[in-house]
Amino acid sequence: MKDKIKVSIIIGTRPNLIKISPLLRKIKEDQSIELQFINTGQHYDYELDGIFIKELNLLEPVFLNIGSGTQGEQTGNGLIKIEKELIKFKPDISVVIGDTNSTLAGALASAKLNIPVAHIEAGLRSFDRKMPEEINRTVVDHISDMLFVPTENAIKNLKNEGILDEKIFFVQDISVDACLQNYEIAKKSEILKKLNVNNDFILVTLHRQENVDIKENLCNILDAIIEISKSREVIFPIHPRTLKNLKLFDIFENYSKKIKIIKPLGCFDFLKLLGCASCVVTDSGGIQKEALILKTPCVTTRTTTEWIETINLNANVLVGSDKEKIVEEVPKRSSKEFHKFMKKIKNPYGDGKASERIIKYIKNVWN
Ligand code: UDP
Repeated sequence: MKDKIKVSIIIGTRPNLIKISPLLRKIKEDQSIELQFINTGQHYDYELDGIFIKELNLLEPVFLNIGSGTQGEQTGNGLIKIEKELIKFKPDISVVIGDTNSTLAGALASAKLNIPVAHIEAGLRSFDRKMPEEINRTVVDHISDMLFVPTENAIKNLKNEGILDEKIFFVQDISVDACLQNYEIAKKSEILKKLNVNNDFILVTLHRQENVDIKENLCNILDAIIEISKSREVIFPIHPRTLKNLKLFDIFENYSKKIKIIKPLGCFDFLKLLGCASCVVTDSGGIQKEALILKTPCVTTRTTTEWIETINLNANVLVGSDKEKIVEEVPKRSSKEFHKFMKKIKNPYGDGKASERIIKYIKNVWN
C-alpha cells in the first residue's frame, strides 16, 4: 500500500478548468493524494482563465504560458513544457480532460514517459475529422490507460474502435458535478440586475473556428441574432477570438450598435444567465449540456455535436450558420410551452457524482 498517490492533472482552457473543479475540490480534502496541477495557458486570457482560479477557489496551478499559435505549435510547445514538469514531479498517473491541444500534449508527454494516462470525457465522437478536437480526443483515447466515459454512447464508440473493456470506466459526466456545484453558488449572482435585463432574454456565445473565422458564417449568425433582438433582448458575452475577428473583418461597430455585446463573464455570473435565459444560441460543447442540466432550450450553431443525447431529447437543435433556421428555432424554443417540455426532460448525463467515482477508481488501481 502506497503512502500517497502522486497525481498530475493537466488542463489548458477555461471549460476544462471549470469541468475539473469538482475533482480538484475532492482532492483538496483527500490526504492520500499528492497533486501536481498544470495549466498550460493555451489561449491564456485573464477573462477566460485567471478569473476562474480565483472564483472557484482552486489551487494555483503550475502555469506554462504556452499561449496561442497554430495547432502544431500549441501541441508541440505543450509537449515540451509538460514533459519537464512531469519529469520533476514523477507522478503515478496523469489525468487529462476533454479534447484540447493541451489534453493531447499532456497525454502524449505522459505516455512517452511511461506514465499511465487517465482521460476524463473519453469516448466522445462527433465523427467530423475536420475538427481538431476530434483528432485530439481520438488520439488521447488510444494512448490512455484509464478511460473515464460519461455516457453509454461513449462506451459504444470506444468498443467500436477496439479499445479493451478493462480500460473503460463508466463514471457519468463530470460536467454535471461542476454545473450543479457551481450553480448553487451562481444563484446568488446579481448579474441580471447589473445588466438590467428582464426575464425574457436570449443568451449568445460563439467561438468555434468554423463560425468565427469565416466572415460569411459569422455574419449569417449575427444577422439572425439581430432579427431575433427585435422581439427579445439579446446578451452576447463575447469570446476574445470572436471580438478579434469582428474587428479584423471591420464589422464590430455595426453589430455592437445592435446587439448587447459584453465581456466574457465569470463562471457564476454566466451560469446564472444561462439558467435564466429563454434560450441560448451557442457553438460551445459545454454549454449545450449545461443548458440541458439547467433546463434552458439550446440552439447550436454547428452541424454536428458530440452531445448527441441533447439532440435526441430535443433539448437542443443543430442549425449550423443558417440564418433562416436560427430565426425560426429561437422563438419556437423560447416559448412557455417549450419551457414546460424542457422541465420534464431528465438529465441523461449523470447524478453529479462522477468526480467521486473517478477518485475511487484511481485509488483502487494505485493503492
Ligand atoms: N462560460 C463562462 N463565461 C462565459 C462563457 C462561457 O463561464 O462568458 C463557461 C460555460 O459555462 C462553460 C464553459 O465556459 O462551462 C464553456 O466554454 P467554451 O464555450 O469556451 O468551450 P467548449 O465548451 O466549447 O469547449
